Amino acid sequence: MARYTGPQCKLCRREGLKLYLKGDRCYSDKCAIDRRSYPPGQHGQSRRKVSEYGTQLREKQKVRRIYGVLEKQFRTYFDRADRQQGITGENLLRLLERRMDNVIFRMGLGASRVEARQLVTHGHFTVNGRKVDIPSFLVKVGDVIGIREGSKDSPRIKELMERAAEKTRPAWLEYDSDAAQGRIVALPRRDEIDAPVQEHLIVELYSR
Ligand code: SF4
Repeated sequence: MARYTGPQCKLCRREGLKLYLKGDRCYSDKCAIDRRSYPPGQHGQSRRKVSEYGTQLREKQKVRRIYGVLEKQFRTYFDRADRQQGITGENLLRLLERRMDNVIFRMGLGASRVEARQLVTHGHFTVNGRKVDIPSFLVKVGDVIGIREGSKDSPRIKELMERAAEKTRPAWLEYDSDAAQGRIVALPRRDEIDAPVQEHLIVELYSR
């Protein structure tokens, strides 16, 4: 599946908040949001009234960018969330949280979702013992996510394993730092998803 390949910091500036797309740089004083906290482009610094549609659109774009999903695939997630029982907005976030690249990021085995996605496509991880190199693969309750034996010698993976041991994780994801293995113990609840979004605006946008 295709992915966005343009400048990452521009996306944060467009949304007006840190989306943490670049890993360590996001926590340094080099963060573009800290340096230029206005939208990119010629009219970035002009004040404009945002319409209701504009607010809904920005919310949708923000979520897409946080999870690194392009429009077509995002719409597919939305349609699937809409068909499920429960609150559509929450279902949508739950689906996005279950993506393999997000789970790897949540485990701490990627400094950002962008890095986690790259490591997944390079085939460093397994689900229930089988290699999975598809970032959009959806994990389910009971799945065990591990690192491929051959990949444990990679300097970057070793570094990430050390960092992952210190990381705090949401309750739906258990992590055994000795085995460098994660297990999905439940589906993520809304209050366990820390994405700063108002998902009901996305539902309103797609209901127009
Ligand atoms: Fe966003 Fe990170 Fe760039 Fe800051 S450094 S603007 S948080 S991607």
